[in-house]
Amino acid sequence: MSALIYGIVGHPVAHSLSPAMQNAAFKEVGIEAGYRLYDIEPTGLEAFLGGARIAAISGLNVTIPHKIKAKEYLERHGTLDGTAQRLGAVNTIKVTEDGLCGFNTDGPGFYRSLIEDLGFEPEGKQVFVLGAGGAAKAIVMYLGNGPENISVFDIDNAKTQDLKKHYGKYFDDKRLRIAGDKLEMIDALDSSDLLVNATPLGMSEADPSPVDKELLHPGLAVYDLVYNRPYTRLVKDANSLKLHAVTGLGMLLYQGAIAFEIWTGQKAPVGVMKKALKEAVKER
Ligand code: NAP
Repeated sequence: MSALIYGIVGHPVAHSLSPAMQNAAFKEVGIEAGYRLYDIEPTGLEAFLGGARIAAISGLNVTIPHKIKAKEYLERHGTLDGTAQRLGAVNTIKVTEDGLCGFNTDGPGFYRSLIEDLGFEPEGKQVFVLGAGGAAKAIVMYLGNGPENISVFDIDNAKTQDLKKHYGKYFDDKRLRIAGDKLEMIDALDSSDLLVNATPLGMSEADPSPVDKELLHPGLAVYDLVYNRPYTRLVKDANSLKLHAVTGLGMLLYQGAIAFEIWTGQKAPVGVMKKALKEAVKER
């Protein structure tokens, strides 16, 4: 049997850390497979997904800017699991003889990392999410009504309003809160048990922290979604105040591990995948 083909479709994708972790996983469990990069422009996505079976692709990760368009395509030409359907975005596709099925493992990946890496159980807690883009939406939707409440702030108020409009219906009364300005943001953060940075601030070494150090209070746990560097300013500030804080490498790991399990039906070798990811980040 020839080697199975998996990959990630995005634009651009050259920077992706997924090949390192997925190829290490296939090798570890003895599956003969190769994980490729597919740099596809938005105008080419439908044709690419339409040809996935003919190209003998067994599974895909989907990344920026294709997650929403992939969901729309699968709505018409495939199937979707409940998480991807409710969120309105797909980050994992399984290709079978019956066709293409879309999933979203970002929320579950975040949740598993929150518990495993940060030791934080969100149920009944107050959560503050900074940023209202794609990653924030996946996290807010997956946490759902578990926390006592979730507050969201974005410098672009239209984005928080959009988040509330689309996902508010899934939340019990007052569980999803929008901070409309900096003062409301400070208020919401002050009463929170967990801060999630879902903005890109921190990806560059020169970036300031997305949250002033003096706003970090005792007992606050910090999850910074940024994963391209071993430490961010926010994580350093939090650690200097003896707060528990992690970067987003664990979310990347677990969203990939869950995708691997969807594709192969086998338990993901998480330790090997984590080692491969850490080495790939160091090599950057
Ligand atoms: P996105 O769609 O661009 O959303 C980020 C949002 O944050 C935008 O609405 C942005 O507004 C807003 N923002 C920027 N600076 C802000 C500030 N100082 N305060 C409040 N809001 C601010 O990006 P994304 O795809 O959600 O990704 C966000 C981050 O998460 C990135 O660093 C990405 O690498 C990371 N991520 C990590 C994982 C993982 O597995 N660890 C997965 C997905 C994403 P403007 O657009 O107006 O600037």
